[in-house]
Amino acid sequence: MRQPLSRELSNLLERGRDRQLRLAVTGLSQAGKTAFLTSLVNQLRHAGVEAQLGLLPAAREGRLLGAQRLNQPDLGVPRFPYDPGMAALRDTPPRWPEPTRGISELRLQLRYRPARSGWLTPEIAHLTLDLFDYPGEWLLDLPLLQHDFYSWSQAQALHEGEQRRGLFSEWLTAVEQLDPAGEADESQLAALAEDYAQGLRRAKQAGFSDLQPGRFLLPGELEGAPVLQFFPLPQLTDSKATLEALPANSLYATLSARFRYYQQQVVKPFYRDHFRRFDRQIVLVDVLGALNAGPERFEDLSQALRQLMHSFDYGKRSLLTRLFTPKIDRLAIAATKADHVTPDQHGHVVQLLEALLAEPLKDLRFANVPVKALSLASIRATEAREVVHEGKRSPALRGTTLEGEDVLVYPGDVPARLPTGDFWQQQGFDFPSFRPMPSNSEALDHIRMDAAIDWLIGDKLS
Ligand code: GDP
Repeated sequence: MRQPLSRELSNLLERGRDRQLRLAVTGLSQAGKTAFLTSLVNQLRHAGVEAQLGLLPAAREGRLLGAQRLNQPDLGVPRFPYDPGMAALRDTPPRWPEPTRGISELRLQLRYRPARSGWLTPEIAHLTLDLFDYPGEWLLDLPLLQHDFYSWSQAQALHEGEQRRGLFSEWLTAVEQLDPAGEADESQLAALAEDYAQGLRRAKQAGFSDLQPGRFLLPGELEGAPVLQFFPLPQLTDSKATLEALPANSLYATLSARFRYYQQQVVKPFYRDHFRRFDRQIVLVDVLGALNAGPERFEDLSQALRQLMHSFDYGKRSLLTRLFTPKIDRLAIAATKADHVTPDQHGHVVQLLEALLAEPLKDLRFANVPVKALSLASIRATEAREVVHEGKRSPALRGTTLEGEDVLVYPGDVPARLPTGDFWQQQGFDFPSFRPMPSNSEALDHIRMDAAIDWLIGDKLS
């Protein structure tokens, strides 16, 4: 067996020759990460044969010869479930792949013919691509690092939306009765932490995204561990100094210690061991889903994205730059499930995504991180059609709903700017979820996956 040191060394050498790339896919849950990574692996494996990748020059020119799976280098990270995902899509009727819930990895080796020729250029070259998938919820925890328990509790108390408060009502009533100076009762803490986690899960289900701590929603291997048994105290009336002088066995000191442990032992290690090592990233956003869900959730998504994007803010004084030197050199931001709207609306989807992320995009450009916004469908589940009504042609979509009903719909116009009150009142937006389409081709049908692949790795295949 090879020693870990020599593996590290050979990894380093590969990287030095610019032939290894670590590419990470993230997004909030339901954004479409699992579908995207399944499709990405599928397209690369079938590049050069069935895959339709006209927007990727190496494929268009016939130079991309295909991809092979290799054993992944990080033995502690679960393998991305590509085969089960493909099996679900090939089932009768086809099903969406089961979403991943933590970090996972898959290593591919791409074979291609370099475009340039020269005496130093080999005829066939390889690119080792390490693909990662991790929950965007984990990035919502970055801002938590700049808080102490006191300021975090206060920040959590700012979520005043009526619908959102309703989802936490039982927990809020119970927490209001607690005395921060009282002795901590383990079983009560565990029960209240579970109530809080349930509130977060309900909020997630209702379409809210700005939810902390992220691991309460997707605990991965930490399921049931005491490090997750804490919650904010939104009703603190005493001064910070008074609270911090309370004895170690008090409720306040116990919650505060767990909060610190979560910061040091859960949040920081993810950034240090994984995030810091990614070369490129794509952030997926379900803009259309939020548009479908209504104004309060759309606003919540916008807030969550602003927070999530702080992890890519490499400005000199950013929290991240103080933790380590970030190295990603390229970022893509993609609105997923573009097959939920008619093709004439795709331009608006990108404009809306850019409007939603206007501030973070400005910061990224200022920090000189190349970034591209696009819209795509990883796995196309609808067909674009035209309907003629009273002599007038209009675009429509044909697909099969999750319940198995064949439908022909016009989901609505996508606003090119952030929707205002008028949009929600007058127009709205409505579409069903579709089932993946059955297909005989090895390669999955998609919209603009090739454009995304070109931006993310195209330069390494020239
Ligand atoms: P994850 O939680 O980010 O991994 O999200 P998934 O990849 O599991 O996607 C969540 C759901 O979104 C899927 O079950 C599908 O219903 C839907 N979805 C994802 N990608 C697409 C797509 O390209 N087209 C359509 N129509 N639906 C999609």
